[in-house]
Amino acid sequence: MSQHFDVICVGGGAAGFFTAINIAEKNPELRIAILERGKEVLTKVRISGGGRCNVTHACFEPNELVKFYPRGEKELKGPFNQFCSGDTIEWFEKHGVELKIEEDGRMFPVTDSSETIIDCFMNASAKAGIKIITGQSVQSLYQAEEFWKIDTQHDKFTATKLVLTTGSNPKMWDMIAGLGHSIVAPVPSLFTFNITDKRIKELPGVSALATVKVKNTKLEATGPLLVTHWGMSGPAILKLSAWGAPILAEKKYQFAISVNWLNDLDLAEAETALKEIKQENSKKIVSKKSPFEFPNRLWEKLVVAAEVSEETKWADLSNKHIRLLAEQLTEGTYQVSGKSTYKDEFVTAGGIDLKEINFKTMQSKLHSNLYFAGEIVNIDAITGGFNFQNAWTSGFIVGNSIS
Ligand SMILES: Cc1cc2nc3c(=O)[nH]c(=O)nc-3n(C[C@H](O)[C@H](O)[C@H](O)COP(=O)(O)OP(=O)(O)OC[C@H]3O[C@@H](n4cnc5c(N)ncnc54)[C@H](O)[C@@H]3O)c2cc1C
Repeated sequence: MSQHFDVICVGGGAAGFFTAINIAEKNPELRIAILERGKEVLTKVRISGGGRCNVTHACFEPNELVKFYPRGEKELKGPFNQFCSGDTIEWFEKHGVELKIEEDGRMFPVTDSSETIIDCFMNASAKAGIKIITGQSVQSLYQAEEFWKIDTQHDKFTATKLVLTTGSNPKMWDMIAGLGHSIVAPVPSLFTFNITDKRIKELPGVSALATVKVKNTKLEATGPLLVTHWGMSGPAILKLSAWGAPILAEKKYQFAISVNWLNDLDLAEAETALKEIKQENSKKIVSKKSPFEFPNRLWEKLVVAAEVSEETKWADLSNKHIRLLAEQLTEGTYQVSGKSTYKDEFVTAGGIDLKEINFKTMQSKLHSNLYFAGEIVNIDAITGGFNFQNAWTSGFIVGNSIS
């Protein structure tokens, strides 16, 4: 015997809960269930943002917000006009959760705890009478007459409307491909670069504003760069890992980057600046103090890399060494060999092809009564609360169109 519901959301994560709650609150008549394969629901929400849950980002203009999405920029414009980050704040406020903005624009619950978000979803779903059924790993999906049939390893379910919110699960993508949808090959996004290089070996923890380019590509990002025990991380690197996710995967994470530690100066301008510094500091020792606004420890390493000996005075710096130093400052090459997990947030790029989704309703263009929300579709963002915003926005739209 199968259990019937008006709506089934497969996947008890951020998108599944947000969708189910929005449907139920708008149409209390509907019988709604969430099917989750794990013993627990909302596991990613729990660990998100280092346990604090970076719920959204203080960027309130749809046209600006879309720029943070390497995949989905064009398609999200309409959806963000329906439900943007300001609406997220209002939604959570209405459900008893106050959010705060941090200096860099990230927004967290004022409690600094992801449990607050989990409690909010659990309370709202209980109040709305949503049935949460755990330990149900969906094994097959098909449409028979007017219903969707959903078989798990234990039970059988039918639903009038089916919402898939299973995140980045390859087995589910295979099942969806079996329904005729195209799946863009999944690759990791938001990772750090493994680099073994004398210039940064002893500098873990050092951070500087930099522009980083992936050589032989158009990939470029500016932002704080953090030296780690394994290589490089920080916003500049994470942005590159997101925008370049498919390209870097193709390169099997073996590629060269160039780093401009002076950011707004190019090679020629750096040479000119160094010549002026030479005039003004002739008696001082080059390696002793960085004349630029970045850490001394990094400056010392770049000076050594430019073959300038430790005791050299500015007055004795030859044009050749000025050139070498300017090169180290503005276009030093570093070889990346592999990637590491960025523990605060990671996502998968790839998923259901955006061309096959109606973004006014988040409905499949191939099947009736089939909807998608969250990371299951080929949308992902850089770090900062944008990935959850995609889950909230798509969940809201499904909620609106179903209810
Ligand atoms: C460590 C970490 C920290 C993060 N921090 C942040 C952050 O602070 N801010 C931010 O914006 N983003 C963050 N993200 C990204 C964010 O968590 C995801 O984008 C978001 O959770 C996607 O939501 P979702 O509901 O689509 O997928 P998920 O949260 O992955 O939920 C999918 C659910 O479906 C279930 N499922 C899968 N297959 C089946 C099946 N066959 N049958 C039944 N159930 C199934 C899974 O068990 C899971 O519970 C973080 C990610 C990670 C890994």
